[in-house]
Amino acid sequence: MENDRQPILSVRNLKTNFFTDEGIVRAVDGASFDVRLGQTLGVVGESGCGKSVTALSILRIVPRPGRIVGGEILLRRLTEDGYEREVALTSLGENSQEMRSIRGAEIALVFQEPMTSLSPVHTIGNQIIEVARLHRKVSKQEARQMAVELLRLVGIPRAETAIDAYPLQLSGGMRQRALIALALSCDPRLLIADEPTTALDVTTQAQILDLLRSLQEQRGMAVILITHNMGVIAEMADQVVVMYLGQVVEEGSVDDVFNASKHPYTQALLRSIPSIHSTPKAQLPTISGTIPHPYNRPAGCPFHPRCPDAISGVCDRHEPQLLSVGDEHQVSCFLYHPPSTENEGSFN
Ligand code: SF4
Repeated sequence: MENDRQPILSVRNLKTNFFTDEGIVRAVDGASFDVRLGQTLGVVGESGCGKSVTALSILRIVPRPGRIVGGEILLRRLTEDGYEREVALTSLGENSQEMRSIRGAEIALVFQEPMTSLSPVHTIGNQIIEVARLHRKVSKQEARQMAVELLRLVGIPRAETAIDAYPLQLSGGMRQRALIALALSCDPRLLIADEPTTALDVTTQAQILDLLRSLQEQRGMAVILITHNMGVIAEMADQVVVMYLGQVVEEGSVDDVFNASKHPYTQALLRSIPSIHSTPKAQLPTISGTIPHPYNRPAGCPFHPRCPDAISGVCDRHEPQLLSVGDEHQVSCFLYHPPSTENEGSFN
């Protein structure tokens, strides 16, 4: 497995807002992280925390009325002559030729629901062939052979026949495998999987996660795995980013986050994972309160209304910054970095 220390993708202080009649929603509010080849970065948080908008921002497909308003997304891309060159995706036009050649070819996306990405009126094979031929100089026959091999690789039985099936003729698990084959058809160096198993039953979920893991090992890709499920993160991720209300609140290795978590929100997410020692039918602890309304963002630390450790007069007034608590382990919380003249967060 290639495990290059230099990030293939660096997200720096990314800000993506939605401008609606009711007000501005800061869907991603200063997120920063890196992902390297051969590594899985797990991005975790409750729904509405900005995970999916982060993925859409990387691909530059944020739907209107959303727009990237700040920060940088840097991709180390492979040029045709085999060299690498850094490209600021944030400086490219959404529909520019360079951005279109990056989407699908260097960065591919696998969604939760395959039917949103697969066309119901075209066979699986024709969809893979079309994408492969868009990005590679291959004949139709070569692309068809490639498609059969990809379907075989992702574990679709009788790939020679399945290639001519329509998506609705396949089960949910097989559709997700076909979507992964489609995503791999251009040999991307970065695969973004957004809740890839949420719509599947538990057994199929485990099979798809195994498949993603083995594909990543074979191909040395970087993977960004977006999920609300800490159990999936524990199984799959090397590095973890925990997001809350558009901000990264904790970031570290899977070991840091699971065995030495610092942020009260991460700790609450961890308490909500079912354990084999849990009493059957016992209620799992939940995180108190609800995510604030997007137009009514709390002042200070965004988590303070739900935080059991909130410090009155501090957490409701100052905004903590993401700061180091160990080697590559960072947390945004005043319990570890009280506001001071040196590291004071922004004053609201
Ligand atoms: Fe809780 Fe304060 Fe830390 Fe925010 S800064 S997570 S409110 S202790």
